[in-house]
Amino acid sequence: MISLEELRDIAKMGNKGAGFVSLYLNVNPVTNPGGEYVIWVKSAVKELQDAGDKAMLKRVEPDLRAIEVYIRNNKRALKKGLALLSSSDNSFWREYNLAVPVKSELVIDNAPYIKPLLDMLKRYRRYAVLLVDKETARIFVIHMGEITEYGEIHTEDVPGKHKKGGWFALSQTHYDRHIDYHVGLHLKGVIKQFEPFIKGEDINRLLIGGPEEAVLKTKALLPKGIQAKVIGTFQAGMFEGTLDVLKRAEPVLKAYEEQAASDSVRKLIDRAMKNERAVVGLEAVLKALQESRVQKLMLESEATAFGLQCKACGALSEQETGPCPYCGGEMEGVNFLIELAAQKAVEQNAEVIVVPENKDLRLSGSVGALLRF
Ligand SMILES: [Zn+2]
Repeated sequence: MISLEELRDIAKMGNKGAGFVSLYLNVNPVTNPGGEYVIWVKSAVKELQDAGDKAMLKRVEPDLRAIEVYIRNNKRALKKGLALLSSSDNSFWREYNLAVPVKSELVIDNAPYIKPLLDMLKRYRRYAVLLVDKETARIFVIHMGEITEYGEIHTEDVPGKHKKGGWFALSQTHYDRHIDYHVGLHLKGVIKQFEPFIKGEDINRLLIGGPEEAVLKTKALLPKGIQAKVIGTFQAGMFEGTLDVLKRAEPVLKAYEEQAASDSVRKLIDRAMKNERAVVGLEAVLKALQESRVQKLMLESEATAFGLQCKACGALSEQETGPCPYCGGEMEGVNFLIELAAQKAVEQNAEVIVVPENKDLRLSGSVGALLRF
């Protein structure tokens, strides 16, 4: 998983004498049915060799080799996008196997090229999850459907029920107050560590999970500014596996994302109706893509369509009409018109937003786009 802290560290690595290779690659099997990305990498390397700085190329030769080997050996594990950063000078290697489309780019420089990764942090919502009970806490981040655990906080001296015998000298109410006091200290300590984490990662959507009482207490103790960022709570045991935590958080995430999606779909449709730099419907979106006008592409998660693609210029069309309207080239049938459109949008540096099932968008053809002009 990508983290802002890690990217900040990577950004600092660049120096005049170093060589870095940064590769972003569209490996989506739908748009690369024959593994075309392997050829893409080869020709991009060739292009750099023809045009590039010979000394730099020599320096990054081991990196380019390592990248080719990686791609060859990991074909089966690849998702939609791949990012590889390598600098053998610095014994540095990072791989990000991504479930979202990326624009293919190969950059050789004396610093790593991380802008596409930074953009991903901004474009795809990240959620911080605080799982908390009376004496422990765990911190997770959910991003692009994946969950990663970032740390555990344990407060050693919270007296638990199992220690009850040890507190015989205290009356029951005194004992309860004693526990409350320690739980309060623990929760304050947790918040003290959680706060800089979400600030450092610039995460603005939070979930709190755990036993109900701990969740409520934690939420109440949060500073107002952070409380406002809590999008929901859920119940979970403290020792569940990360995937189980994700499963428990999912209903909250789903409700939040659906609401956010329906808000932005409504805005999109409003703008399209007023003809304010927005279109809905597949043919209109494909036309806007052809004109490089798309800023934000929105599509329903289940949307799929057959269509045509120009063999010469790559133009996409929904309708079966003779030759390519743009270049006169021959059109051929394609099965994944919407995936191809999404990839095209990414290549134009547009944002692609997949919205969960949405009736309004479906009635408008399941796709729409905000336009640059
Ligand atoms: Zn064409």
